[in-house]
Amino acid sequence: MTPFAEQTLQFFPTREEQKEAFEFNKLQKRLVKNVGEAIGDFNMIQSGDKVMVCLSGGKDSYGLLDILLLLRQRAPIDFEIIAVNLDQKQPGFPEEVLPNYLRTINVPFHIEEQDTYSIVKRVIPEGKTTCSLCSRLRRGILYRVAKELGCNKIALGHHKDDILQTLLLNLFYGGRIKGMPPKLVSDNGEHTVIRPLAYCRERDLARYAEERQFPIIPCNLCGSQENLKRKEMAQLLAQWEKHNPRWIANLFTSLSTVVPSHLMDRKLFPFETIKPGDPKPQFGAEGDIAFDSDDAC
Ligand code: SF4
Repeated sequence: MTPFAEQTLQFFPTREEQKEAFEFNKLQKRLVKNVGEAIGDFNMIQSGDKVMVCLSGGKDSYGLLDILLLLRQRAPIDFEIIAVNLDQKQPGFPEEVLPNYLRTINVPFHIEEQDTYSIVKRVIPEGKTTCSLCSRLRRGILYRVAKELGCNKIALGHHKDDILQTLLLNLFYGGRIKGMPPKLVSDNGEHTVIRPLAYCRERDLARYAEERQFPIIPCNLCGSQENLKRKEMAQLLAQWEKHNPRWIANLFTSLSTVVPSHLMDRKLFPFETIKPGDPKPQFGAEGDIAFDSDDAC
């Protein structure tokens, strides 16, 4: 039981307090299970790894750090964690909040100060969206910092809802089937980026952050417009989920159940050259169901 839950149960807790502690434990167990499964399924962390946890001050990255610390206590393997925050010098950024928090929980950390805010403001004309340049700059800096700190893994706080929104954004605005990978190697081959929250729902992380009372730093300090397209996808997913929660679960499952022989990408399946008598491709084929109906009648 966490110190937080223990505290709640001390001194003859009321029924309400007992219920709250019970609900919190359930939530924490679910998040730990989700993260443990994602790490296991994608072989994200191995013994001896030094994991740089990117901490923005938002609810998701706090949750990521917290759950990884819990998992490390229980894991049969040994790995290091170092929290890193990039202070982009946005106006009003409360620079003491993260160091104070990290000292309290006794986690090694590094704050990288880089004024990307001024660069973005200088380069991008007023009124245009600044996020793509800002995140490119941030990525470059975080890769460099990971190298300097000797971290071989970079953990980001993207969750299941981010992954689904990205899938829909790519489908509807990019014309391609592409999500957000739980694990990827950077283009220069030097870094492994992992997303241990890949199986976690955003609403769980939001509740967890509330219960744990993380000192959240607002995410609108840069003054950038909200990403309206992403918001649109989030609303769409919420409507679908309301209509039928299985749709969301199955949409997510579909990302790991791809059948190239039943799509139309000629780079993934040799449609031009297949002929009777060919050996069955090792993967990507799903038998002859050409005359079967996919609809229930
Ligand atoms: S919201 Fe602001 S800080 Fe975040 S990526 Fe966009 S410009 Fe950068």
